[in-house]
Amino acid sequence: MSQTKTLVEVKDLTMRFGGLTALDNLNMSIHEGEVLGLLGPNGSGKTTFFNVLTGLYKASSGSIVYKGEEVIGKSPQQIYRSGVARTFQRSRLSLPLTVFDNIVIGDYQHMQHGLIFNLFRRKAFRAEYDAYVEKVRDLLNIFSPPLVERMFEPVETFTMIDRRRIEVCRALLSRPRLLLLDEPSAGMTHDETHALMGDILDVRSKLDNLTVVLIEHEMNVIERITDRCVVLNYGKKIAEGTYAEITSDPNVQTAYLGEEAA
Ligand code: ADP
Ligand code: MG
Repeated sequence: MSQTKTLVEVKDLTMRFGGLTALDNLNMSIHEGEVLGLLGPNGSGKTTFFNVLTGLYKASSGSIVYKGEEVIGKSPQQIYRSGVARTFQRSRLSLPLTVFDNIVIGDYQHMQHGLIFNLFRRKAFRAEYDAYVEKVRDLLNIFSPPLVERMFEPVETFTMIDRRRIEVCRALLSRPRLLLLDEPSAGMTHDETHALMGDILDVRSKLDNLTVVLIEHEMNVIERITDRCVVLNYGKKIAEGTYAEITSDPNVQTAYLGEEAA
């Protein structure tokens, strides 16, 4: 009696870069509350899909409806404010800055008061700053309690896995409905990956109604944490289903073997 609600509906989505078609008539949906694995060999269009969905790139054609509204044509800020947040494939932390600064930075442009206002109205700024400290502390308490004590230490003093946790926290600060994670395990050991994925599952159970799309290469991670998967190859969807379904799909096996042979 599980009832599937669609959060995102992607229709005939195409993204071209000059002569290269990075997304080729993609049709797929993201269900409310699921963890969806987005798979495919390198260059198959996974990151491009995130870039289009978050408004960084404007699709050449097609549509993405999120919560009943067309996304294409909206600015990254509008999309962020509507509840879509992401992490990037390459770390985007500023190492000399503190954990707090790094987490808040993503949200800063969305703060109510601009810089000039702050200079003249220090009191209002102080209140806003304090509110951010509370917000970050609450979030760290949910996602990674040991980081709370070290909130004002520079990021460069943290291990790789903690840096990833900080990036996920930054994405969660806006309390998104939809969280897009682009290869969060890149550069980490097997054990670190296992721990981080545990944290992600954990935070999902604590935050109400969070939908996650995860780009990930490690198949055991995909098996452990996804409810469903979509597999891309050359910008086209070649398979969709549970982990068991997609791994037994001959199209998927060929796509991956093709990459290994190359
Ligand atoms: P994946 O994340 O699956 O490895 P990408 O989405 O990064 O793949 O890339 C898909 C294809 O689109 C690749 O061939 C890549 O070179 C190309 N591509 C991605 N972004 C750009 C861009 N900004 N300009 C030109 N080509 C791009
Ligand atoms: Mg990528």
